[in-house]
Parts: sequence; C-alpha cells; structure tokens
Amino acid sequence: MKQISVKAPFQYSVEEAQRPKPSRGEVLVKMKAAGVCGSDFHLFLGENPMAKFPRIPGHENAGIIEEVGEGVTKFKKGDHVVVDLVVACGSCKQCKNGRRNICRTVKARGAAVDGGWREYFTAAEHEVYLLPEDLPFEEAALIEPFAIGGHCTKRADVQESDVVLILGMGTIGTIILQVCKEKGCKVICADIKENFLKRAENFGADFIVNTKTENLNSRIQKYTNGEGADVIFDAAGYPGSLTMLLEKGIPANGARIVPLGFCTSAESITQSMINGRELSIIGTRMSSGQFVPTIEKFRQKAYRLDGIVSDTILFSEIDQVFKNMQSPPEGMAKMVILFE
Ligand SMILES: [Zn+2]
Ligand SMILES: [Zn+2]
Repeated sequence: MKQISVKAPFQYSVEEAQRPKPSRGEVLVKMKAAGVCGSDFHLFLGENPMAKFPRIPGHENAGIIEEVGEGVTKFKKGDHVVVDLVVACGSCKQCKNGRRNICRTVKARGAAVDGGWREYFTAAEHEVYLLPEDLPFEEAALIEPFAIGGHCTKRADVQESDVVLILGMGTIGTIILQVCKEKGCKVICADIKENFLKRAENFGADFIVNTKTENLNSRIQKYTNGEGADVIFDAAGYPGSLTMLLEKGIPANGARIVPLGFCTSAESITQSMINGRELSIIGTRMSSGQFVPTIEKFRQKAYRLDGIVSDTILFSEIDQVFKNMQSPPEGMAKMVILFE
C-alpha cells in the first residue's frame, strides 16, 4: 500500500509499505476520505510541538472496514466508519471520567501517532464509529471537526438565550456557528476576510464584523445594546487575541470565553479583568463523547456542508495538497483527500 510520510518540516515522501494486520480488538480501515486540517499544516510546516518525525499525517479519517481482528464484535468487513483522533489509555482518572481527550497519556492521531494519509491503517475498535451507508465519505471526513464544534460548545454550556461571538470564521469558526445556530443562539461572526464573512452570513450569522475595517468592540456594543457577548470563541488564536477579546465592552458580565488555539506567547490578562465581571475562561481540546451525537446530526442533515470544503484532491495527486499547504491559493477554505 501507499503512505505519506512527513520526514521533517517541508519534507515528505510517498512510500510503499506493508498493509498492517489488525491485532486483537483492532480493525483494519481502508481509507476513503481524509480532511486536511490546520494542524496538518502545522505538522508539515514544523509548527506542531507535539509532532515527532517521521509522521503520517491525517486525523479526519473516513473509510471502510477491510478486516477485523480477533475479539472485535462491533464491526464487520464492509462497514462504513470514521475514526476518532484521540488515542487514550482508557484507565487513567480522566479516561474513567469520560474525558478521553485529556487522558494523561493522550495521543492525537496524525501528530503524536501515525494518522490516516495512507491506504490502510489499524485502530482500536472502541475508537471507531459506524456511519450510515448513504453518507458520502467526503462529508464523513467532516465529522471530526464537527465533533470539535460539539465539544467546545458543550464545554461553554451554550444555551439558546446566549449571544455568541466567534472570532475567526475558518472551518472551525464556521462549524461553531452552525452548532450555535442549531441551538437557537444569536451569533456574531468576526474575521478579516470578506469571503469568510459572506459564508458566515450565508450560514445564518446574525451580525458580522470585519475586524480589518471595523472596530469589534463598538460593533459588539451596538449589537448587544452595551451588554456584550455571553459566550466568546477565539477561533483565530493569534498572539494577543485572547487579551483583546477580554476588553471592557466585549464580554458580558459572567461571560464564558473559550480559546481554541495553542498559542504559546503570553497574554496580558489580569485577575481584575476576569473577576471584575466573573468571567469563565474555559479550555477545550479535541473532543470526547461527540462522535455518536455528531453522526446522528449528519444523518438528520442538521448542518450545512456546502462551502466548507473548497478543494477535493485525489490521494494519487497528494503533491497538490502539500503545494497548497505551502502557499494556499486565493479562496481556498478546506481540502479533502479522496482515496480511489
Ligand atoms: Zn482537525
Ligand atoms: Zn487515560
């Protein structure tokens, strides 16, 4: 079989490899579609501190069960599936509390362990989820990022009555918008890209702010009659973005603020900024317990998927994916790799 190996930043190769055999409790997945995520960019560009080289990227993986290992009861050959990106121990305190995403030894597929940019790979039965037969694989590759949207909105306890602000309307911002709209919230979307704001409007944003040409704070004040936003998602995650989002006027008293990035530069946040308004700053990482409900939402066609994927590229033309990662073409939103 063929696999993609990133050897070092900006270096990759297409290799021939032995098709793996599923061990006890594992399944062999024949890949059909893989989403390309920002974290795959970070891996290739050498910006993911958790990644070790050589590494096979890919954590938004959809495919077909090719073979089942001994003791596997949940699946049979031919089942359509998605694979969780979280690889967890199952026995630490966090795992036992249902928080596998923050397992003490958690590993993200495609970063800390090899991912799905290969024709076949094995995964533990309990990290694999059954798909409806009629769901196109290209769409199924979006289940993992939608699970992230389900997880972070759950972490923030988003309620129908909330006014939500999302900064950064890329794939994850757009997904959070849809999850919040589905709950009935009012959603304000902010970005510097006009095409991303147009898409947000098209997906039901109640109010948009172009932070390149408009003042976010005064726009929020205007939309909320001076109250501020109840829930804020920082899906832009640049140095200083979190501090900016805590400016007087942006969060409502008692607001929940969820940073989604992994920026390592220091922010300028004080205790007074948090406690003066009793704000909650809530961490979120990957997802836990979100695949089953997200697949159910996909089955119900609860989300709009048009306009999320801008480029579908065949696995045999993988060079194009890496080219696009190095210099993203104008208008590119998200790539999905399709396997023949
Ligand atoms: Zn991702
Ligand atoms: Zn664990």
